[in-house]
Amino acid sequence: MSSAENRCSFCREPAVVRLTEPERRLCAAHFIEDAGARVLAAMKHECMVSPGDRVAVGLSGGKDSTALLLLLHRFLPTLGATLVAVTVDEGIASYREETLRAARDLTTELGVEHVIVTFADLFGEDLDRLLVGRESQGCTVCGVLRRRALAEAVKRVGATRLATGHNLDDEAQSVLMNVLRGDLPRLVSDTSTGQPGHFVPRIKPLAVLSEKEIVTYLLLRGYFRDLPECPYAGTALRSEVRTMLAELEHRHPGTMTRLMRFRDGARRSAGSAASTGVLGTCRICGELTSGEVCRVCGLLGRKER
Ligand code: SF4
Repeated sequence: MSSAENRCSFCREPAVVRLTEPERRLCAAHFIEDAGARVLAAMKHECMVSPGDRVAVGLSGGKDSTALLLLLHRFLPTLGATLVAVTVDEGIASYREETLRAARDLTTELGVEHVIVTFADLFGEDLDRLLVGRESQGCTVCGVLRRRALAEAVKRVGATRLATGHNLDDEAQSVLMNVLRGDLPRLVSDTSTGQPGHFVPRIKPLAVLSEKEIVTYLLLRGYFRDLPECPYAGTALRSEVRTMLAELEHRHPGTMTRLMRFRDGARRSAGSAASTGVLGTCRICGELTSGEVCRVCGLLGRKER
C-alpha cells in the first residue's frame, strides 16, 4: 500500500489503525476520539447512566479497567454523574501486588476516590489459600467470590451503578461459552437492571471496543503497562474459547459483533423470561440466591449455626 493511501480518513496524518463498519483509517488523535465517541454513544443509547448517579468502576488495574476509568473520568461529568473506583484484592501472590499498584497510581493521578476490599477481610482467607487442592477451579471460585466482593464494595461506597471493563471479546466469549454449555438461561439473563436492595445495575461501557482497540487506546494515550498474568488464568473453558474466537475473528471479521447481535436477539425473544427470575435468600448469609444456600456459602463450606 502506498503511503498516500495509508492516511487518516479525516486529517491525512499517517494512519495508525484501520477500522471497518464503516471502513476508515485513523491517525492516533482521531482513533482516540473515535473510540471515546463510540463508548459515549453506547452509554447514551443504552441509558447506562442518569444525572445524579454515583458510578463505581471495578478497577483491577489491568488494561480494560484502566481504559474504562480513563473514559468514564472524561465522560461522567458531562452526564451529570460522579465516579468512584473499587478494587478487589483476592490475595493472589506475585500478581495482585503489581496490578494494585497500577490501580493506586491511576486513581491518584486522576484524583478519583479509591476503595479496596480484600477476600481475606470478607471471606477470612486469600484466594491462594482457598484454592489449595482445587487450583484448576481457580476462575470459577474467584468469579463467584469476586462478584460478592464487588457487591459489598459498591454498598460501602454508596454507588448506584457498577461499571465493569468487559470488552467486546469478553462478551462474545461469554456468549459462545453459554452456547457450548447449553446454558440458555444464562445466555439471555440481563444484569443491567440490578435487584433493588441487593445489586445495583451493572453497566459495560467498553463492550463496543475490542481487546485490540483497548490496547491501542492505552498505548496511544501512554497508559499501557505490561503487567503479569494471573497464575490461574488459562485453567478455564474461557481460554480455549478465547483462542478459537480470535482465530475465527481473524478469518471472518465481524464474528464477535454477530455473536453479540445473536445474544441480543435471543434476549428480545426471551422477553420477561430473561430477567433473573424469582430469587430467595440464602439461609446461611441472607444474600439473594436461586437455591437454599448461595454459591458463596457453598464454596466456602459455611454451615448453618
Ligand atoms: Fe480470578 Fe481467574 Fe481472573 Fe485470576 S484469571 S483474577 S482467578 S477470574
